[in-house]
Amino acid sequence: MPSKSNKYVQRAKYSPPPKKGDVCDCTRQSLAHSVGEITHLYPYFDENGIRQFSRTRHLMPPSEKYPKGDKTFRYCHHYRKDDEQGFRVTDPKNESLLYGQHKLIDAILAAEQPKVILLTEGEGCCEACWALLDMHATTTHLGKRFTEASAEHFRGYKGTVLIVVDKDHEEQKHIDAFNDEKTKEDYPGSAAALRKWKALKKIGVRVFFREAAVGKDLRDHLEAGKTFAQLKKVTLDEVQPLWLADVDFGHARGRGDG
Ligand SMILES: [Zn+2]
Repeated sequence: MPSKSNKYVQRAKYSPPPKKGDVCDCTRQSLAHSVGEITHLYPYFDENGIRQFSRTRHLMPPSEKYPKGDKTFRYCHHYRKDDEQGFRVTDPKNESLLYGQHKLIDAILAAEQPKVILLTEGEGCCEACWALLDMHATTTHLGKRFTEASAEHFRGYKGTVLIVVDKDHEEQKHIDAFNDEKTKEDYPGSAAALRKWKALKKIGVRVFFREAAVGKDLRDHLEAGKTFAQLKKVTLDEVQPLWLADVDFGHARGRGDG
């Protein structure tokens, strides 16, 4: 039986071949390695549309722990660079790049900004939003992290950012990670959601939470034929972390958008 994660096929236009002037010229062929078949190649462009690095999504073969197989992500070698001493280090500019950043910047600089920008968890949900909703969406590639530099890309945006949180708390993999003393993952992904909320608030952006009405994430929701309006509102209280001492809620604690 094919894995559910195999269902979504990346649209070719979101993963165009490298062009002249791109820093990253990686292709599925050049990035193929033993971790498993590449299902998606996500190119990251800077504000000028120059491709800086790529991330690949791989499907790992079924194992005892994950009988249906599992997904994993890798960065291409352009993500890091050599510093003056010749050590490979993460380029801070690459760390803060958002997926579809060149489109995001165009939208924010436009005379008529979009009323809503969706901030999704992962490139797959972001692309599903572009394809199926024709709305602006972006995501960080850092998973749980969202740097202040990432938030800076939204500066000047007068509309509303909706953070669409995954319903990870319904997935066995995440329940196991939550219950494991060693991994101590947050639950249900709330620390990451709050980090984004806090970083965006800090630069004066209006921000609220949503979640899928069907399935675990925005992609499931849209593939099930649900609309933007059918996304479920999630209040700040519902996204409370079980532990995250560094989140300063300020005066906005507990306030949702209805
Ligand atoms: Zn590359």
